[in-house]
Amino acid sequence: MNFDVIVVGAGPAGLCFARSLEGSGLKVAVVEKQPLEAIAVPAFDGREIALTHASRRILEGLGLWERFDPADVSELRDAKVTDGDSSHALRISAGDGRSGRLGWLVPNHVIRRTVFDSVAGQDNVELVAGCGVQAVAGPGDGVEVVLEDGRRIRARLLVAADSRFSQVRRMLGIGARSRDHGVRMMVCRFKHTLPHHHVAWEWFDYGHTLALLPLNGNVSSAVLTLDPARMEEAVAMDDAALAADLERRMRGRLGAVAMTGTRHVYPLVSVYADSFVARRAALVGDAAVGMHPVTAHGFNLGLQGQARLAEAVLQAHRSGADIGSDAVLARYQRRHHAAALPIYAATRTVVRLFNDGRPGARLLRRATLRLANRITPFRRAIAAHLTQA
Ligand SMILES: Cc1cc2nc3c(=O)[nH]c(=O)nc-3n(C[C@H](O)[C@H](O)[C@H](O)COP(=O)(O)OP(=O)(O)OC[C@H]3O[C@@H](n4cnc5c(N)ncnc54)[C@H](O)[C@@H]3O)c2cc1C
Repeated sequence: MNFDVIVVGAGPAGLCFARSLEGSGLKVAVVEKQPLEAIAVPAFDGREIALTHASRRILEGLGLWERFDPADVSELRDAKVTDGDSSHALRISAGDGRSGRLGWLVPNHVIRRTVFDSVAGQDNVELVAGCGVQAVAGPGDGVEVVLEDGRRIRARLLVAADSRFSQVRRMLGIGARSRDHGVRMMVCRFKHTLPHHHVAWEWFDYGHTLALLPLNGNVSSAVLTLDPARMEEAVAMDDAALAADLERRMRGRLGAVAMTGTRHVYPLVSVYADSFVARRAALVGDAAVGMHPVTAHGFNLGLQGQARLAEAVLQAHRSGADIGSDAVLARYQRRHHAAALPIYAATRTVVRLFNDGRPGARLLRRATLRLANRITPFRRAIAAHLTQA
């Protein structure tokens, strides 16, 4: 089986990359270890993905945004960040970015289903589902992937989009700096009696962090970070006890709370690959950069990364050049690294500072938020980054 491109991983990043090659004439195989039903109709996984204006433009360009049901898309107008029991909040307003909204929230399973539907309709894509990868080899002027069932497929370019725990990254001999944050994150939806006004909240408390993401109606998503022992206690609570616990942690800001759906727990591990490319291969999505969710940038970055790779590949293809050449891959590596590293480093600084509950760090946390709130250009810079104003 010969292809131009093999994509391993039919998550949102891998599928968006396959979508970006639509109409190019390039023959693409997408290999996914989960069965077809699981990727065609993905289950709700609790993740509400905050998308920036730049991401919306990419999704519009791929013909995906208009496929979202408006009921699944909620606006993010402002964001507030508070520390401990302080009454002061750092407020990032959409107006600072000269826009009506900072971004939008779309459930992860909706993004996955929408991009799957569009890729499944592409005649240049073959989906190989229910089969992982056993080995990768690079014979001659191509790359060969040995599937778990023994089949061998060949292409000129291999794209690994198989999550932050990427096996293909390892098979390619690419190392990664990874950090296990030693905490767990629970995401779940709840309804409440007071309106959220489409404002997102992030409370960096001592020993836990709670974020609230405003969904349509008087419904929000809670994103609770705890150490493993306390997370076990939270998971074991019945709905009434968890609702009371959240209400207490929110200090009643959204009124009375009632849980509305399933809970999902994730380990928090950040990853930054030592290189985004190898011979005839590139990493995209979390396989390249797996972000801590606190700054809500993982998929936004993955979307931009796949667009950068697609641009380099399509340009080479149009000019009759080799789509898997070192020059094409070096261009992607240079551009994506320049964009990803500052965001990754800034996110790590936020995580380090606001997870530190020692007395000195507490003072620094509070002072940092107060100062940031007073420096209008700083607030504007964040808003402008999200809205691209
Ligand atoms: C709680 C939470 C909240 C988040 N919130 C946000 C947010 O607000 N904004 C944002 O931008 N990002 C957010 N993210 C990050 C975002 O979800 C990820 O960046 C995104 O899902 C990564 O997509 P991906 O396609 O790279 O990887 P994944 O979604 O991990 O998909 C990888 C795919 O590869 C498949 N696979 C794995 N191994 C193999 C193999 N060996 N062979 C074949 N297939 C394989 C998997 O089955 C899967 O389908 C959040 C993450 C979490 C955990």
